[in-house]
Amino acid sequence: MTKLQHKRLLLKLSGEQLAGNYDGGVDAKVIEWIAKEVGKATKAGAEIAIMVGGGNFVRGAQLTGHGISRVNADYMGMLGTLMNGLAVTDVFNAQDVPTRLLSNIKADQVADQFTPRRALSHLTKGRVVVIGGGIGRPYLTTDTAAVNLALELNCDLVCKVTKVDGVYDKDPAKHSDAKKFDRISFQEAVSNEQIAVMDKAAMGLAMEHQKAILVFDLHTEGNILGAAEGKSVGTLIT
Ligand code: UDP
Repeated sequence: MTKLQHKRLLLKLSGEQLAGNYDGGVDAKVIEWIAKEVGKATKAGAEIAIMVGGGNFVRGAQLTGHGISRVNADYMGMLGTLMNGLAVTDVFNAQDVPTRLLSNIKADQVADQFTPRRALSHLTKGRVVVIGGGIGRPYLTTDTAAVNLALELNCDLVCKVTKVDGVYDKDPAKHSDAKKFDRISFQEAVSNEQIAVMDKAAMGLAMEHQKAILVFDLHTEGNILGAAEGKSVGTLIT
């Protein structure tokens, strides 16, 4: 087994990515594909924790109003992430990628409660750990929860997967002369309004604790394994 440059990865999967070809809900075919890609990395010895988003079901900030409180809207969002977590865990296991779901919301029937010890125990046994329920508190997003979890589990890298192959100086879909960065600093990523990789709270937390973020295209084969191997994949924010 070749030595991996980044052994423990935190992978953030958004609800939109899990909805794949649908407007909402989950696209099991897309999750099967992701399972195969994650499986390549775990077979090579990588330890992978996945923070699942929930935007395919509920985004708290958008749902708030007409009597729905922000707090309950956010809890609904967290429950949405748990539904995604159940789907991801089942599909991964069906693809022979051993996976366990842990939840930051108490939900005994469907998932064990997240504790760092439990997560680390699964990771060191070669199992993927999926975390549902974000961080378990309102007024946050799963981007921030992802960085927090990467810190808590001492992950080497936060993998923020997107539709494009990294960070550009302007939107590559709108500007043909957009230039891709191989590497940028947190300062540049935060100060440049054109660069919207993760929300400000998530970026601030990563910057404060110097937790590197790798931004890359989810749908290019071998990218997750490449990230673990330290290959030049996407854009590294340090
Ligand atoms: N959420 C929350 N606390 C958390 C994580 C998530 O309140 O720790 C809620 C919030 O309402 C958020 C929703 O869950 O909008 C779904 O998560 P997110 O919007 O981050 O999902 P994504 O955009 O990644 O699909």
